[in-house]
Amino acid sequence: MRPVCEHCTKALLPDSGEAMICAYECTFCSSCVETILKNKCPNCGGTFEKRPIKTITS
Ligand SMILES: [Zn+2]
Ligand SMILES: [Zn+2]
Repeated sequence: MRPVCEHCTKALLPDSGEAMICAYECTFCSSCVETILKNKCPNCGGTFEKRPIKTITS
């Protein structure tokens, strides 16, 4: 799981609701996906969905 947006390098923590991934797990923030990528992955051409939020339990 990548910890930053691959486009703007914004931090995307495991519990961030902003993280989006494509089928190949390229990771971007939701604002880049919506406004720049238009829901199309620049690496593999796939579409995005919200990355599941992982809550850290210890
Ligand atoms: Zn971004
Ligand atoms: Zn991709």
